[in-house]
Amino acid sequence: MDSTTSPLEALRARIAAAARIAGRKPAAITLVAVSKTHPAEAILPLLDEGQRVFGENRVAEAAAKWRPLREAYPDVALHLVGQLQSNKADEAVALFDCIHSLDRPSLVTALAHAMAKADRRVPCFLQVNIGAEEQKGGCAIADLPALIGEARAADIPLAGLMCVPPAGIEAAPFFALLAKLAGDHGISGLSMGMSEDFEVAIQLGATHVRVGSALFGSRA
Ligand SMILES: *Cc1c(COP(=O)(O)O)cnc(C)c1O
Repeated sequence: MDSTTSPLEALRARIAAAARIAGRKPAAITLVAVSKTHPAEAILPLLDEGQRVFGENRVAEAAAKWRPLREAYPDVALHLVGQLQSNKADEAVALFDCIHSLDRPSLVTALAHAMAKADRRVPCFLQVNIGAEEQKGGCAIADLPALIGEARAADIPLAGLMCVPPAGIEAAPFFALLAKLAGDHGISGLSMGMSEDFEVAIQLGATHVRVGSALFGSRA
């Protein structure tokens, strides 16, 4: 890579290389560019380079930032990658094209209601607390079969499973476990892998990688 290579080009090349090593097609992997905390000026260069899938973790921040950007780029897809409160379900369904953080029955109910009301079906990943961490979002592995059943019964389009493995230890076993859980339930989408570990996530079957700092630099 020479000095004129943009962060997005460099990242695309790394995704493509990881896909090839895994015997997968680069096009099978969706890059979700996580632009949370970064202003429109930081996002515009990526839009210019053709990136169209972006991730945000706060409903209010995403709404304020993306309403004007979407007027110029109506084909942008916005993904919610952060935790969602049930009382923001209506707003989330109106704003986002995909939700990565469906993790509890009460949110299934709230999202199903919001989707029916808006007549808009938003694909959702079920987030799994893959490392059984106390403070983390995601449903317990033991509760996943019931949550899948509830989401299917509520007619929520299932995009796949999502996880954020514990920080500071090797992520691969957690990615492999998420892939196994998905396979066990006939689910094909896997949202896993961030700036530090997206290559190993691709090796283990990620269909969506959520990358922020490798594209935008570190967050304040
Ligand atoms: C912030 C965030 C990311 C991006 O993390 P980076 O390490 O900056 O790539 C991915 N997924 C979720 C759920 C996040 O909150």
